[in-house]
Parts: sequence; structure tokens; C-alpha cells
Amino acid sequence: MRSRAVKGTYDVLPESTPAWRRLRSTTETVLGRAGVREIVPPIFEYSEIFDKSVGPSADLVVQKEMYRFEDRGGRSLTLRPEFTAGVLRAYVEHGMHTRPTPVKLWSFGPAFRAENVQRGRFRQFHQINCELLGAPGPLVDAEAIALLHDLLQALGLPDLVVALGSVGDPEDREAYNAYLREALEPREHELSDTSRERLRLNPMRVLDSKDEGDQRLVADLDTPLDRLGDAARAHLDGVAAFLDAWGIAYELAPSLVRGLDYYRRTAFEIHAQGIGAQSALAGGGRYDGLVESLGGPPTPGIGWALGVERVLDALQEAGAAPAADAGPAVFLVPMDAVAVGEAAALARRLRTDVHVEHAYTERKPGKGLRDADRAGARYAALRGAREREAGVWTLKHLASGDQREIPEAAMSAAVLEVPA
Ligand code: AMP
Repeated sequence: MRSRAVKGTYDVLPESTPAWRRLRSTTETVLGRAGVREIVPPIFEYSEIFDKSVGPSADLVVQKEMYRFEDRGGRSLTLRPEFTAGVLRAYVEHGMHTRPTPVKLWSFGPAFRAENVQRGRFRQFHQINCELLGAPGPLVDAEAIALLHDLLQALGLPDLVVALGSVGDPEDREAYNAYLREALEPREHELSDTSRERLRLNPMRVLDSKDEGDQRLVADLDTPLDRLGDAARAHLDGVAAFLDAWGIAYELAPSLVRGLDYYRRTAFEIHAQGIGAQSALAGGGRYDGLVESLGGPPTPGIGWALGVERVLDALQEAGAAPAADAGPAVFLVPMDAVAVGEAAALARRLRTDVHVEHAYTERKPGKGLRDADRAGARYAALRGAREREAGVWTLKHLASGDQREIPEAAMSAAVLEVPA
């Protein structure tokens, strides 16, 4: 049988890594300029870190989605399904709350969820994650949203839509969940299986259902925004006012909720037009209380996570993906056996300045030039007995066909030249 990658994972081929690298480097620039610093937490954590952070009534779905195993000492470990819990565990473990606030942290790496695989939904995927810790007010929420927006815009994504909502304070959330239970329990039999389970565990999440029947049932009900307490309402208005002032377009999303128990007040997502049902490029929210549940001091926080694969798809769709890697400045073509070693030695020297490739066996000139062309080289440089005698290489500019003889010592300067 031919070997294949595990279902729901994929290989990022060399053609796609330029886009991948640009996403990372743009993140470094945009977030770095705002004082967000990179943190690299481990990929697996003790399972209790995730159990503490998802909360008792979090979706069973979330629990079931985790890849969990025992190590040889019998301790339960989990491959991270998201970054927040691990980043906050590190924040607490290293006493980072003593640093000037807000403490701003970003990360990049794989995350794992045992999900039903479909377009835009994988079992191993990658996230860029950002957390702003220690500031309670709406200004930092607006900054989190603005950073995400600016990052996606810097990448060249047009038509970004920020969906802004609020799940309220814990007491608002509790009251709203009670309201939903009262409204939906009599009609429970009309709900989808998932929503029936959610109604029991975390009723708000019924609003997230993609099932049309469920959507019809909740369409006439009050939304979390209709039932915000005064403090949460003022907070949301504050966030909106900053976004207005900064010219960041958003739509209020009255039914936007987040799956985990720890979220409160601000919730947001960013969607791109035209990449189908899985159009959420990123999502986030405020999670005051989470640091405390991981054993740290009371610390407000807000964060987001962006789906790397979905952003790369959206860039492709928008025609904004970067070009493939450039080919070598020069491709060396040895035309006899002695020149094979000479080409390898010259390549090593030139590589202190430029990208150089060469053929590994002797080539006829026509074949060597074709190799150079396929490699995407700017120049081909040929070497045979005649060139050896004269101490030169025959340098051919592939686009124009211009050809010159260049002394070996002048090759570096010659191939760095970009003819008009
Ligand atoms: P979440 O942590 O669920 O809020 O997800 C944040 C972002 O990660 C989403 O908006 C998606 O872009 C991405 N994402 C989440 N789950 C997956 C998955 N299974 N496969 C690919 N991307 C995902």
C-alpha cells in the first residue's frame, strides 16, 4: 500500500512555504511594532491545564476533540487544541504578572483537534495566537481587534468583516442561559442532537448551530446583546467607539458566542468573503478569570487565534498570495568530469553572497542550459576544457541570451548584476 498522510493532516509543499513564511514575518512586524512579544510554549501540556481552562459546562464537543494520551509515568498529557491555556500556564509559572501591563504575547504553531475533517477543518492545523494580559478596559479589547485586523490587511486581504459581540458578564450569561432553557426546553424535540446536548450543558452555544431547523427556532428569541447588563453594555459601547475612531469597520453580531466557559464580555470574529462555510479566519474574546483558574492572581485578559491554513486559502482566493521563491542567481554547468568538482567548489564560495545551484554530473551545453532554465536561474555559467585553460566561466544571461567570459575571481560581482 502507498503511504499517505494521516487523515486531516496535510503536507505544506515547497511551493506553498513562501506564503507561510510571509504570514509569519508579517506577524512579527505588525505585532512586534505594538510591543507584542513572541512566546513558544510546548505542544503538549498536562491534561489538567485544559480541563481547568475549558470549565465544567464547556461543550462535550471540546472535550471529545482533544488528543489525549498517558505518558510512561501514567500522567495524562494533551496535544494543545488551542494556545490560550498553555500561554497562561506559562504566564503563571514564570510570574509574568509582575511585568508592566498589559503583558502582550503572541505564538505560532500547530494545534490538534479530533474533528470531522472538511474544507477548512483539519485535525492538525496551525494558529497564530495573541494574548493581551492585565488590562480590563475596552481600549485593550479594541487594540486586540485592531492588531488582528491590521495583520490581515497588511497581508493583502480585502473585504474583511469584523463581527463584534458580547457574551456579557457571568451573571448576564447565567440569566441568558436560563432564559434560553425556558424558551427552548418545551421545544427540545425540534432541536438537532448537538443542540439538545448544548442546551443541557451550555445553552448559549445553541446560537452557534449551523442547522437550519435550530436557526429557525432561535431566530425570534432575544440575543445575548438584548440582555446585556449595564456594565457589559458600556464595555461593548467603549470597544465600538474606539473602532469607530480608528476607522475599523465592524458589524454588531448579536448572536456571536464563544464555546468555552471562561469567555466574558467581548467576543469577535473576522470573516473573509468567498471562502465558503468555514469563513472564520480568526476569533477571540475576553477571558477575565482564566488566569485565576490556572492558579495565578486575578488577571483580566483578551486574546485571539487566527487559522493559518484558512488565511492562506483566503489569500489564494484573493490573488494576494506571494510569488514562489526566486530561482538561483546562477546555475553552474560542468561540461566535463573535472568541471563537476570545480562547479561544486565555486558554488560554495559564491554562496556567501548569492543563491547558486549546479548540475551534479557533466552536461552537454544544451541540456545544461535547459536545467538552468528549469531551476529559474538568472544566469547559466558553463565550464569545459577551454574555459579551464583561460581561467574563466562562460556566463550566459538566460532571458537575453547575452554571453560573456568572466574570470573566476569576478564571478560573484558578475552574477549579482541584474541587467536592465
Ligand atoms: P477557535 O480557537 O476555535 O476560536 O479557532 C480560531 C481559528 O482557528 C478559527 O477561526 C479558524 O480559522 C481556525 N481553526 C479552528 N479549528 C480549526 C480546524 N480544525 N482546522 C483549521 N482551522 C481551524
